[in-house]
Amino acid sequence: MEDNREALEVSRNFIEQEIDKDLAEGVYDHVQTRFPPEPNGYLHIGHAKSILLNYGLAKKYGGKFNMRFDDTNPTKEKEEFVQSIIEDVKWLGADFEDRLFFASNYFQQMYECAVLLIKKGKAFVCDLSAEQIREYRGDFKTPGKESPYRNRSIEENLKLFEEMKEGKYKDGEKVLRAKIDMASGNINMRDPVIYRVARMSHHNTGDQWCIYPMYDFAHPIEDAIEHITHSICTLEFEDHRPLYDWVVRECEFENPPRQIEFAKLYLTNVVTGKRYIKKLVEDKIVDGWDDPRLVSIAALRRRGYTPESIKKFVDLVGVAKGNSSVDYAMLEYCIREDLKLKKPRMMAVLDPVKLVIDNYPQGQTEQLSIPNNLENQELGERLVPFGRELYIEREDFMENPPKKYFRLFPGNEVRLMGAYFVTCTGFEKDEEGNVTVVHATYDPETKSGSGFTGRKVKGTIHWVAKDTACQAECRLYENIVDEEKGKLNEDGTLNLNPNSLTVVKDCYVEPALKDAKAYDSFQFMRNGYFCVDSKDSRPEQLVFNRIVSLKSSFKLNQ
Ligand code: ATP
Ligand code: MG
Repeated sequence: MEDNREALEVSRNFIEQEIDKDLAEGVYDHVQTRFPPEPNGYLHIGHAKSILLNYGLAKKYGGKFNMRFDDTNPTKEKEEFVQSIIEDVKWLGADFEDRLFFASNYFQQMYECAVLLIKKGKAFVCDLSAEQIREYRGDFKTPGKESPYRNRSIEENLKLFEEMKEGKYKDGEKVLRAKIDMASGNINMRDPVIYRVARMSHHNTGDQWCIYPMYDFAHPIEDAIEHITHSICTLEFEDHRPLYDWVVRECEFENPPRQIEFAKLYLTNVVTGKRYIKKLVEDKIVDGWDDPRLVSIAALRRRGYTPESIKKFVDLVGVAKGNSSVDYAMLEYCIREDLKLKKPRMMAVLDPVKLVIDNYPQGQTEQLSIPNNLENQELGERLVPFGRELYIEREDFMENPPKKYFRLFPGNEVRLMGAYFVTCTGFEKDEEGNVTVVHATYDPETKSGSGFTGRKVKGTIHWVAKDTACQAECRLYENIVDEEKGKLNEDGTLNLNPNSLTVVKDCYVEPALKDAKAYDSFQFMRNGYFCVDSKDSRPEQLVFNRIVSLKSSFKLNQ
């Protein structure tokens, strides 16, 4: 029994252990978490981790998960981002039910908290300029110097703060500061600014306010108002935690929330910085914020990643206290694992050359029944048309093959996947020496599923019948940057991989794919997993994104 309990505890991450303790000690009687993005850009894989972590904890403890836009900073926020963030959070399956909040709706309460602090002698209006405040603050070695305005009377502070709110002062002329401790070893506690004057229109409150709260003051109040218990954030806020605690305590919230920090998720060989992505978009190097080479959630969705695969990835990475980066190959491993049994395995020829089966009757076609997924019988079978002329991959034929090449070459016999054995009898070339047609004969006795055991062949190749094939475009991707070659150039720009996108125009796919719709995904045998592009695919011109190839360099528990 004891041992069991211990094993259970070990398997719980450090945040869960903290929550267990809080519940056991009666600090909280419920769990409530939130995801608080600033609507200033698209969400990326790192945010997905935070979303699934917060949502997962609420679910695990029978608690609630809030969606809250941290829109207290009026400069950068945009409605477009609000919509995309909501879509992404819902797509990931993090259900916030009816709890969609905007921090800007709490401006009045934040203001009242500030007034309370002034009345308690815990905040003062300061006339120092931003630069002077910085100078007075000191650094790690030098303690800060108190502002000459620190000892204004409560009455004067109340009056001045009211005037700030009324618009009597210019931007930057006065600020409200918390009165904490200029000698604190923690610089965040050296009388931090909590309100500033800024004449900016806000996307939600318009011109109602000309004073805006600073993040470190606003965030704990937002959490407290919503009865959040565990405010989970990333490590860079660790040094801000004493200020967080100070704010909720001095603002006299009952049962205040507590902050717990975890390490950000970093992935190798990807670009997540908004500044870089913005430039890639502006320079038209990528096709928008959802370009399948990016790792914004919108881009991952367009590429063909599933919410399940992202969840699996986040679970595998786990939560840690120390920053580290995760190999991109691990994300690829997760999508392969997720699609492996779910998706039909179909035939698509990406680099076609014609194969003519000379002894197959002219004009004859057959419908061959081929299992959709040999590892998952539940996916059933489909009919695939077969005929005299087929497309095969150019690399599946060689005039002069090296040793151990088991595909088509003159005189060699291979299996056409799900169809017959064929023996190569010859080939044709154009003036430049490119192979244009491969010739073969088939053995009618060898039909797949007929129980033929007469002889074996070493190679199996895929094919698509020419007359019924659908033409398609396939987009093949590599990482947009390669960290081994250096992510940045000397001038600070991104060192881009010139091969990050290869567009293959004349691919042929099975006719069963004709009605494939946006986001539908499939395994193309030997070529990888592919997803119908949601932006550019049309019924008359299918476009597929390669999600991931079939081969993996990543091994679990390597
Ligand atoms: P970025 O600058 O990369 O967009 P951010 O921290 O500015 O990130 P916010 O919108 O402020 O983004 O963050 C929303 C939430 O997502 C925060 O709780 C933040 O801690 C979390 N978050 C952001 N980036 C990551 C990451 N790489 N890994 C895990 N959580 C993250
Ligand atoms: Mg931010």
